[in-house]
Amino acid sequence: MSLELLAMKNVVCRYQGHEALSDVTFSVTAGDYLGIVGPNGSGKSTLIRAALGLLPPDAGQVLLFGVEAASFRQWRRLGYLPQSMRQLNPAFPATVEEVVRLGLLPHKRFPRRVGGRRDTPAVERALEALGIAGIRRKLIGELSGGQQQRALLARAIVGRPELLILDEPTTALDPETRERFYTLLEELHREGGTTIILVTHDTGSIGSMASRLIYVDRKIIFDGTLDDFCHSAEMTAFFGEASQHLICHRH
Ligand code: ADP
Ligand code: MG
Repeated sequence: MSLELLAMKNVVCRYQGHEALSDVTFSVTAGDYLGIVGPNGSGKSTLIRAALGLLPPDAGQVLLFGVEAASFRQWRRLGYLPQSMRQLNPAFPATVEEVVRLGLLPHKRFPRRVGGRRDTPAVERALEALGIAGIRRKLIGELSGGQQQRALLARAIVGRPELLILDEPTTALDPETRERFYTLLEELHREGGTTIILVTHDTGSIGSMASRLIYVDRKIIFDGTLDDFCHSAEMTAFFGEASQHLICHRH
C-alpha cells in the first residue's frame, strides 16, 4: 500500500475575494520527488502554505500525514523552506550554527532546549553538506544572500525529515552551490527515502531530478510523470515542443 503524506481535495484559497487557488486536488505519496512549476503569481506558494496548514483553505480539505490541521507532532516529520524567509533582518542575533540547530526544535520534548550535545552530529552533517561549516560562528545577518540560503536549507534538512518542502530554494544560490544542493536533494531522496516537494523556476534542472511534475496556474493544469509531461499536448501548447523536451530530459 502506498502511503499518502499529503492530500489536497478540491482546495480553494482566496485573498480578499481574489481566488489564488481554485479546486486544487492532488496527493503526494511517500517516495515522490515532486516538482511544482508555474508562472509568477500562479498560486504555488499559496498551495504550499495551504498544504502546511499555515493558510486555512476557503473550501476543500487538506490532509498532512493523514490528519487535518497538522500540529507539532506532524511538523516534526517535516522540513520546510519558505519562500519569504529570504530577506532576513540583518540584526537577527543568531549564528549560522544556531539557526541550523533551530531545525531540531520540533524534535524536542518539553522543555524544548536547543544546543544539547546529542544534536551535534546532525548539525555537523547539515553544516558540512551545505558547505557552511567554516562560517558557523558568523551572524546570519552578516552573510550574503546565498550563504543565508544555505544556512536555512541546512536548517530544513537537519532533522532528517520524511517530507521536505522547498519553495524556490535556489534563487539566491550561485550555479556551483545550486548543483551541490541538487545533488544533496537527490541523495536525501534516494538514500534517505525523503519525499520531496520542490517549487522551482529552474525548469532546466527539474526534469532530470523529479519523478513527477505539477504545473499549476490557479488550478492544476498538469500532474504526471516526466514522460507524461513530455507527451502532453497541453504542455506543448504552454511551453512549445523544444522547451518541453528540454524540461523533460528524456528524449
Ligand atoms: P506564486 O508563489 O506562484 O508566485 P503566490 O501563491 O505567491 O504565487 O500568489 C498567488 C496570487 O495570490 C498572486 O496573485 C498574489 O499576488 C496573491 N497573494 C499571495 N499572497 C497574498 C497575500 N498575503 N495577500 C493578498 N494576496 C496575495
Ligand atoms: Mg511563490
